[in-house]
Amino acid sequence: MLIDSHAHLDKEQFDLDREYIIEHLEKNGIELVINVGADMESSKKSVELAEKYHNIYAAVGVHPHSAKEVSQETLEELRLLSKNEKVLAIGEIGLDYHYDNSPRDIQRKWFREQIKLARELDLPIVVHSREADEDTLEILTEEAQGLRGVMHCFSSDRKMMEAYLDLGFYISLAGPVTFKKTDELKEVAKLVPLKKLLIETDAPYLAPSPYRGKRNEPMYVKYTAELIAKLRGLTPEDLALQTNLNTREVFGINRH
Ligand SMILES: [Zn+2]
Repeated sequence: MLIDSHAHLDKEQFDLDREYIIEHLEKNGIELVINVGADMESSKKSVELAEKYHNIYAAVGVHPHSAKEVSQETLEELRLLSKNEKVLAIGEIGLDYHYDNSPRDIQRKWFREQIKLARELDLPIVVHSREADEDTLEILTEEAQGLRGVMHCFSSDRKMMEAYLDLGFYISLAGPVTFKKTDELKEVAKLVPLKKLLIETDAPYLAPSPYRGKRNEPMYVKYTAELIAKLRGLTPEDLALQTNLNTREVFGINRH
């Protein structure tokens, strides 16, 4: 059974069929979904979904896009939310220099503060980094030594993969690895140590081929799994088993 290690089922794109999708996860080969918050509203909704459904877990945190809305109070709210036993991680947090929806110095400040919060709470972090490799690596090197963490929707090159692996982080691959002209990402998919690999959808975004451009949903993680298995000469079952174990390991799911 597969785990979708990163999805946003709280989003309005699922308002019409959220319940149906969640209730059919198992039938569609998905054992668990980790629903990841991106601001306070979605973090709260993630926790609500996790409380309602046995096969949903939550991460809570503020995405760099919304960094300008963060205050000390937000951190207190996150601290409270994380007391729920189904909250597994702080995320998604990080830097996004592609959209620059929040000023970069503000993004960096709250990225650091949320890493400190994760350390205090002894939780892993889920990191979003887009066109910000240098600063992401610098902040992780300074703040996240010894922490568990996942580079979500990894989309960089082999050199960055190695740098994040050196920090002990896991590499999570999403739909783009199945797209055409992503040779560098396919190279990463072949090289990342099997014990450090996670797979995810980031649904409703980034649907893998053959659903590229459509709304993504957790069961499509199998297309990403099949492609990576093929690249590595593994059976899809072996890849599913190992990534399932890795996800449980980094998020401490067996302890819950
Ligand atoms: Zn996401």
